[in-house]
Order: sequence, then C-alpha cells, then structure tokens
Amino acid sequence: MPDCQRLAILGSTGSIGTQTLEIVRLFPDRFRVVALTARSNAAMLARQAREFRPRCVVIGAEEGRRLLEEELAGTGIRVLYGQEGLCEAAALDEVDTVMAGLVGFAGLESVLSALGTGKKVALANKETLVVAGALVRQRLHENGGSLIPVDSEHSAIFQCLVGEPQSRVEELVLTASGGPFRSRPYSTFVEITPEEALAHPNWSMGAKITIDSATMMNKGLEVIEAHWLFDVEPDRISVLVHPQSIIHSMVTFEDGSTKAQLGLPDMKIPIQYALSYPDRWPAPHARLDWSQLKQLDFEEPDLEKFRCLRLAYEALEAGGTAPAVLNAANEQAVSLFLNGKVRFSDIPALIEAVMSDAEVEPVSDLEQLVAFDTAARSAVLEHARAGTI
Ligand code: NAD
Ligand code: MG
Repeated sequence: MPDCQRLAILGSTGSIGTQTLEIVRLFPDRFRVVALTARSNAAMLARQAREFRPRCVVIGAEEGRRLLEEELAGTGIRVLYGQEGLCEAAALDEVDTVMAGLVGFAGLESVLSALGTGKKVALANKETLVVAGALVRQRLHENGGSLIPVDSEHSAIFQCLVGEPQSRVEELVLTASGGPFRSRPYSTFVEITPEEALAHPNWSMGAKITIDSATMMNKGLEVIEAHWLFDVEPDRISVLVHPQSIIHSMVTFEDGSTKAQLGLPDMKIPIQYALSYPDRWPAPHARLDWSQLKQLDFEEPDLEKFRCLRLAYEALEAGGTAPAVLNAANEQAVSLFLNGKVRFSDIPALIEAVMSDAEVEPVSDLEQLVAFDTAARSAVLEHARAGTI
C-alpha cells in the first residue's frame, strides 16, 4: 500500500479542482481527501463531499451555507465559511498537501496559512506569487514547507531542473500559445467580445485565466511567478510564442544545452506530477503521437499588440507592491470586461493608468497588500466610470 497523502483541495469546484479530483479517483489508495472548498456552487460541493467524505467543506457565499448544511446533515462533515474557513482548512493538522486551486488574490491568505504550518503546497494559484512572492519565500524559509508548481509552464521548468545545479541556469524560456487573437489585427481588438475571448484554442480553463490568456497577461503573470519560484532575474526569463502548446517550457544551461518538457496540453499531467513528485505514477493520460506531429512553430511575442505582457515585465522590474497593483487592476478590469462594462482593448489601458498613479513600496505584510489591492481595484472602477483612459 503506497503512502497516503492527506489533501485539502482549495477551489475544488473549479477547473484545477475538478481535475485534481480526477487524479484522486485514478489513485484512490494514494489519497485521503480532508477538505474541499468552493465560492458559491454549494450543490456541486455537496456532491463532491458525498463522494470523497472529507472532514470539512468550506463555502464562500452566505447563500450556499444553509443549502450545504442541509445537504450534509448527519454526515459528520463540518461546514466552514469564508476566508477564515479556507485558512483553517489549509492549516489542519490532518492535511499533508494543499492544492491551491483558487483563482486570484482571494487565494493568497489560505496559501500563506498552509505555508505557515509547513505544508506542501501544490500551487496553481499563480496570483499568490505575483502579489506576495516575497512573503511566500519568507514563510517557506521560516516553516520548512514546500511549493510545487502546477502551472504547466512552471511544472515543465521544474521538471527540466530536476538533478541540475541551479547556479548553471542561463535562461528560462516560457512558451505561450498566443491565445485566440495571436494573428488577429490589433485594429480590431476594440470589437472583441467576451465570447470570442473565452474561446481558447488549446486549453479549457476558468474564465479569468482564459481572458488573461487572450490578453497575454497570463504569460506576464507567469514571468513573475517563474521569478519567485526559480529565483531567476527578469532579464533571464523570456517568452516564446508556440501556438501548438506541445513544448510546455524550456531551460537553457550555461554549457549551451537546452532541456524542454513536452506533452499534449492536458493539465492532469502537471497536477499529477505536483502530487507524485519526486516519483512518477503510471497513468493513462493521452500520449503525444509523434507520427501525427507535423511541425512546431515559434515566434516572438508582439509587445505592442499584447501590452499586458509588457506591463507585467515593468511591474516585476519596479518590484515591491507594483505586481500587486498590476494583479488587482487586471482582476478588476477582466471582471468589468466579462460583465460587458469595458472593451477588450480597455483592459491594458486601465491597468497602465492605475499602475502609473500608484506608489511603489517594499512589501511588508499581508495587510499592506490587501490595502494596495483594494485601492487598485477602486482606481480601475473610477477610471472606467469617468472614462479617463
Ligand atoms: P476556476 O474559476 O475554474 O476555479 C476557481 C475555484 O476557486 C472555484 O472552485 C471557485 O469556487 C473558487 N473561488 C473563486 N473565487 C473564490 C473566492 N473569492 N473565495 C473562495 N473560493 C473562490 O479557475 P481555474 O481555471 O481552476 O484556475 C485556478 C487557478 O489555477 C488560477 O490561479 C489559474 O491562473 C491557475 N491555473 C489554471 C489552469 C487551468 O487549466 N484551469 C492552468 C494553469 C494555472
Ligand atoms: Mg500556464
């Protein structure tokens, strides 16, 4: 009988969360699910809880709480609530590994809570590292936990680095599909609808990251994520557009050798690797058929067309609270776009306007980051309301 990992799956109703549960179903002897969480989908969370029998579930929306309590009455499963509940679930003594599958800034506190108790965190929630990379590093240093990337590019780099001396890394090359608008003329970006932006050519993901992929902010966030995960400076992290999404990223070493990790675009592979590392478990995920693979294409990203990627590099260079402002402004702008309140081309304009107004401070603590996050969101709303972009 293999070692059994006790899991808290934060965001279990989302794209990453449901795929994590598929991995648990594939390897029932290797896992015990201790906690599951959702923002508002109480019905789905209740179904998951009946199947996986966790110790507790956490719901974010007040309306879902009563439904969940009724659905789970008599099961002995505790129902927790809100950010406090998330932090409690992430830090439970009975949990070994936390799958951080929340989206956005909302995921930060629970990741810090898990790392504060020295747990292994499988990190999908890239916004946590974008906003609070310095705090995450400090928690890791103080409490001896570990952080394993789930994001496919970072999983690829992590896999390329196994057995390699960190000091001999010359460059990280993050690949990017380029999203649905790679070859669309920039002059038509003002007309892009949420529906068009939600149709990603290669990956099926949650709404926020899908819009980020269309603006290429996703790749910008990933550059910042890579900086904190692998301790590599921004001028040695490059982005290469690779429309087929077969090479998931690469590392070039100082002797001129480059390693790449390849596979079909299927998040279950990096999710499983984050859970099995340093082992690999035999699994039936679809394999690349080399005979069908006709070509691999590459091109430089267009930083004029995809301004969000440039803004992310600028935020990383500015350091301190600048990436927190970038992230909050982006979350707010994306939400406005999805709700039909601003145009696709307004997203980078809003972020740029808010970034240029914001002060930059060294990162000190969570309260400070919450204050910067709140202020940046308000500033986006104000610019959008007043039409000052
Ligand atoms: P999603 O929208 O599908 O799921 C998000 C989950 O978090 C849901 O369970 C939702 O209920 C929960 N949630 C959202 N806001 C919350 C809040 N305020 N409080 C409590 N719970 C909340 O998102 P996703 O696509 O699964 O992405 C999750 C994270 O993983 C993101 O940071 C994303 O960038 C990253 N990621 C996702 C993919 C992918 O293929 N989906 C790939 C790489 C990285
Ligand atoms: Mg990615």
